[in-house]
Amino acid sequence: MPFKNRSNIGADLLLAKRLIQHGARPPIVSQLCHLTRKQSIAFFKTVQGQSPKQGMLPHDHQWAIRSAHNNIHASLFLGMIEGIRDRLPTPNLSANLLVAAYEIYINVASRMLADRQFIQPHSSQHYPLDINRAWYLITLLSTGDLVFILCGRCHARYLGMIHPDTAFSQCPICEVWTDRSGRRRWVSAKSKNHALNKPSAR
Ligand SMILES: [Zn+2]
Repeated sequence: MPFKNRSNIGADLLLAKRLIQHGARPPIVSQLCHLTRKQSIAFFKTVQGQSPKQGMLPHDHQWAIRSAHNNIHASLFLGMIEGIRDRLPTPNLSANLLVAAYEIYINVASRMLADRQFIQPHSSQHYPLDINRAWYLITLLSTGDLVFILCGRCHARYLGMIHPDTAFSQCPICEVWTDRSGRRRWVSAKSKNHALNKPSAR
């Protein structure tokens, strides 16, 4: 199976390996690492020792606002993406950017999960935000469906949503209450349907 004639195929394969180790599925690996779908699937089997999951990639555009917990993890990851991208000469989305931001995310997330006495995740697939969903969230940020908002009360930077069928903005740190199981709940789930003005702060 010949690879496309590219001078930096070695770098692409190294990045593909890291993406796959974090659970990235073949369509994403193909797109970011210049491999054909067939090559990505074969490489996935080699790295993971099993066939990739079939079916659609994560595409729930409301995932980041479904719970305060999701929002914290999405805000953390996309904050990394923005932070790294702002320092790059060409702010294009690349395999490097996704891998770098995701590795910082799982580093921070594993400490958060350990603090909350959860079992230490053994693979990226067990973090609240898996890398395939992380990839989808980047596209939502790029299209403006997800926007960063600065909380006027606690100054946390979190994600709100501006979408034709959903507008939502609640701080996952201070506009929540904790139920008996210890889960953070939005103060008002009903406000999901309230109109949201475009925030001035990112
Ligand atoms: Zn807040």
